[in-house]
Amino acid sequence: MEGDVVQNVSGEGPLQDAFQQLGIEIMQRADALAVHSEAPGMLTRTYLSDAHHGAAEQLAGWMREAGMTVRRDAAGNVIGRYAAAGEREDGIGGTSATAAVPALVTGSHFDTVRNGGKFDGNLGILLPISCIAAWNRSGTRFAFPIEVIGFAEEEGVRFKATLLGSRAVAGTFDTGVLDNLDEQGQSMREVMLAAGYDPSHLPDAAYRAEQVAAFVEVHIEQGPLLLNESLPVGVVTAISGATRFMAQLQGLAGHAGTVPMHMRRDAAMAAAEIGLYIEQRCSGQAGLVGTMGILEVPQGAANVVPGAARFSMDIRAERDDVRHAAVTDICDAIERICSARRIEVNLTRTHEAASVPCAPHLQAQLAQAIEACGWPLRHLPSGAGHDAMALAAVAPVAMLFVRCGNGGISHHPDEIMIEEDAAIAAQVFSRFVENFVP
Ligand SMILES: [Zn+2]
Repeated sequence: MEGDVVQNVSGEGPLQDAFQQLGIEIMQRADALAVHSEAPGMLTRTYLSDAHHGAAEQLAGWMREAGMTVRRDAAGNVIGRYAAAGEREDGIGGTSATAAVPALVTGSHFDTVRNGGKFDGNLGILLPISCIAAWNRSGTRFAFPIEVIGFAEEEGVRFKATLLGSRAVAGTFDTGVLDNLDEQGQSMREVMLAAGYDPSHLPDAAYRAEQVAAFVEVHIEQGPLLLNESLPVGVVTAISGATRFMAQLQGLAGHAGTVPMHMRRDAAMAAAEIGLYIEQRCSGQAGLVGTMGILEVPQGAANVVPGAARFSMDIRAERDDVRHAAVTDICDAIERICSARRIEVNLTRTHEAASVPCAPHLQAQLAQAIEACGWPLRHLPSGAGHDAMALAAVAPVAMLFVRCGNGGISHHPDEIMIEEDAAIAAQVFSRFVENFVP
């Protein structure tokens, strides 16, 4: 039964009308969902705001229309389940033959950064909903259930803690963050309780490994690689690991007119030399990037030799050994540069996350789907963090990247993608699901 459907729905050849229609629907829904914003004239949707509740209701409605049963878990995630063939409609239990079949889980987040884009996260919820609606219309069911999760929180904007939704599902939610306060001084715990979500029930939101066959996230690339190479989609190899430091440099302030160059202890020039070293050390090695995103001269003045400087550095790489080697070299360089310039340095490591590799068997199945749809294959690492990182604690994970326009800009209102790419990604995702082997 399913074999026929595979050929009819996402068989080889050019993009069929059915997927063009899905592309149109996905783009229209991205616009409709973006109406749910807490700030006029821009898209800002933070955890458990009124706009966030509105978006959750809208997603739940589309999930039901697509033939899914919908529930909210204790973190406020919106979870739609498309039952397996022969499974009971309410999605609970199922027949003895299907009750134990692990689900293919997909989804992404529906919170946004302040003044963000409408595809980041949202695409990975809207796209599978449209694909499932198409299967539902044609009466197609699979041997496994499909669950689409709209993760309630990923960006960390309101409570300065990221991946809240996916960590709840992965069973790795750090309850310490429940005491984090928003800008109004309300704790996450208070806000959750007021919205009807009891934090003491968070452990119930966790999936057991045997319930999940795989987690596959569709996401815009948020970068320029696919755009530069004229490719609509790509297979993610790994979500890069990251190391972040804050550095304080202490030199000696002096008069810009009277202290000769050879007698200076200029903290800003030490920071500048370090910045150039980071740029050089992280260049030319695929998957390695280094950024000095904060660079300040506290109380600096035009006529004063900078006595202090402060900067951040963020080093990411697909492979942990590559990142560790770069971090070691950069720390050595900081010591050398500061010692030569007689600058005191204080380094604080603020973040450390290991790389999360995507499962080879899932990458291979995504690759087959892309090639079957007639597109060249491109593998690329994800430099940005995603919900799939958290889900890796409970299931093998994979990601399908979709091309962004506008130079790959994201976390910005200029974030765009095109309808044709939504259609192509829907075709690739459908092909993947129809041929999915756990
Ligand atoms: Zn995202």
